[in-house]
Amino acid sequence: MNDKTKDDILMEVKNLSKQFPVKKDRLIKNAAWLKAVDNVSLQVYRGETLGLVGESGCGKTTLGRCIVRGISSTQGEVIFHGEEGPVNFLDLKGSRLKKYRRDIQMIFQDPYSSLDPRMTVYDIISEPLRINRMGTGEEIDQKVKDIAREVGLNIAHLKRYPHAFSGGQRQRVGIARALATNPSIIVCDEAVSALDVSIQAQVINLLDELQYKYGITYIFVAHDLSVVEYISDRVAVMYVGQVTELADTGELFSRPLHPYTEALMSAVPKPDPRMRMERIVLEGEVPSPIDPPSGCYFHPRCPYRKPICETDKPELREVEQDHFCACHRAEELTLKGA
Ligand code: SF4
Repeated sequence: MNDKTKDDILMEVKNLSKQFPVKKDRLIKNAAWLKAVDNVSLQVYRGETLGLVGESGCGKTTLGRCIVRGISSTQGEVIFHGEEGPVNFLDLKGSRLKKYRRDIQMIFQDPYSSLDPRMTVYDIISEPLRINRMGTGEEIDQKVKDIAREVGLNIAHLKRYPHAFSGGQRQRVGIARALATNPSIIVCDEAVSALDVSIQAQVINLLDELQYKYGITYIFVAHDLSVVEYISDRVAVMYVGQVTELADTGELFSRPLHPYTEALMSAVPKPDPRMRMERIVLEGEVPSPIDPPSGCYFHPRCPYRKPICETDKPELREVEQDHFCACHRAEELTLKGA
């Protein structure tokens, strides 16, 4: 990404947070707040795939949903750099929101529950086109068939209901629906996690082809590091709602700067059995986002912690060119990659 300039930025997430109220008692409302996403800032470049990784509950899915406004954010901005210049997508209302929603789409994890079982596949794909009045009936009909072919669906089966399709085919329907409005960016929320490995590969290759053909930008939320390594240009690692490291994929996997990334990398399966790497087993549990630790959120589990880690929160900063890390000791540690 060294050759990227400011003009290549498609989306900027600025200080985004999402807190959920937690009721501890029937009488005391909102006794605590769960910080699912905690002051996240990052940039997404045109035509790239940005992987978002981390353990379950780290906030990656919530961040993706906040970006597409699937759920409301507690604070922060999502600046979208479209044809009309930068706009804060989270501030938009009415017809402007509707217009920009076409540009920012989402593919969901579970192709079984994300498609309305009462609608035919034809209706599912055509719905966003009809809602946005993107053409006459004939044009919409043609577009639905074109997209269906594009994603590898048989157009003779479009009048069938989702239950008649396999998991992989349903995910193709989800992709077709997301593609219908010609989006600039698609948030793929664990888009292949529920699929068999062979089907995963087909869907990933399809996403790759669509990106190559239409220049679509992806934010790819996943917990499978091998999949993320394969598909992503850059990767952001999340831990307890925060981004702890962000770099080009090759750089992050070969030379991590954050101890948490090093631990994640040690769990990546190696294709060559002669390549052995000792798995780093972290002590303790992932802290609760309701009551995270002081200082660095990772310090109770970090094998490299120092006293400063318990008191001072490390900011995400550019430690090397285009390599961001939130660790007090990023410059001095030499960590192992995958
Ligand atoms: Fe570990 Fe300290 Fe770095 Fe946190 S700041 S990851 S505790 S060394």
